[in-house]
Amino acid sequence: MRDFEYCRPQSLKEAVTVLAEKGKGAYPLAGGTDILIELKRRRLPASCLVDIKAIPELRGIEREGDALRIGALTTHSELLGSSLIQETVPVIAHAARQMAFPEIRNRGTIGGNICNAYPAADLVPPLIALGSSVLLASASGQREVGVAEFVLGSRQIAILPGEVLVAVKVPVPVSNAACAYARASTRKTGGIAATSAAAYLSADGGVCRQARIVLGAIEAKPRFVAEAAGYLEGTSISEDVAKAAAKMSVSGLSPIVDPRLSVQYRSYMTELMVRQAVLEAWAEVNR
Ligand SMILES: Cc1cc2nc3c(=O)[nH]c(=O)nc-3n(C[C@H](O)[C@H](O)[C@H](O)COP(=O)(O)OP(=O)(O)OC[C@H]3O[C@@H](n4cnc5c(N)ncnc54)[C@H](O)[C@@H]3O)c2cc1C
Repeated sequence: MRDFEYCRPQSLKEAVTVLAEKGKGAYPLAGGTDILIELKRRRLPASCLVDIKAIPELRGIEREGDALRIGALTTHSELLGSSLIQETVPVIAHAARQMAFPEIRNRGTIGGNICNAYPAADLVPPLIALGSSVLLASASGQREVGVAEFVLGSRQIAILPGEVLVAVKVPVPVSNAACAYARASTRKTGGIAATSAAAYLSADGGVCRQARIVLGAIEAKPRFVAEAAGYLEGTSISEDVAKAAAKMSVSGLSPIVDPRLSVQYRSYMTELMVRQAVLEAWAEVNR
């Protein structure tokens, strides 16, 4: 591991000032479950780690009107244990539960999961399907960007030098809408997602009015599948309709090459995940 400077600001203002001063080689350190591995493997050109864990502005889960504001430092275990999340966006708790082991869930954060931009990141597909955005702060001000626009590719995000992800804004689904997430791994427990899918559906009078399907872990960045979502809209979703939409979802993809899974198997599993997510979201909408 190469040498690096370490600092631990106590406020958001102090953190963005330090990041601006230290420049390109400065990286925020949250739970450290990803960044420390990257440092050990010498894959990160970091000259300074800015430990953001003591910053109170990055903590907390609150309801703000028709959305939740989830602080960037919220751990996966905190997402799982939050009654507010369970009551309003249970799919986020469900996705957090799928991740790794308790040790990782106790340290890994929602901000780190998004900023790491790993194709298999579990929180990203449901956050995108829900229409979530990230709130970013720097020495020159704050801005809000949709998660779909923020994640640019494998380990690539639309963050500007000196910016910190402060919180995630998640719209709470209206009463006739629901979101579901399905993922498969090559391991029984603790494995990262080999394929995943999130489905957001809203209904009116037994008919699907709005659908959003997002695939994870199949291409370098999460993929919206507009054609399949459009196919669901205006239908009363049945097993056959979900199956047809799932088939549509995997046509024209460029699956990532990965020695763990063949392209054919990954596509097949993705199809199953879409079907499962669509049927679960539909069952939830009609409950
Ligand atoms: C054994 C193991 C198993 C895992 N399994 C899974 C899994 O099943 N599913 C899954 O999705 N992930 C998994 N992960 C990956 C990881 O645990 C998660 O992505 C976690 O959420 C990362 O959060 P962190 O706080 O530890 O990020 P860190 O390691 O602290 O940071 C990751 C990156 O994000 C940046 N960053 C962090 N917070 C901010 C912020 N607020 N503002 C700006 N930049 C920021 C850092 O600079 C760094 O580049 C696994 C990791 C390990 C080691």
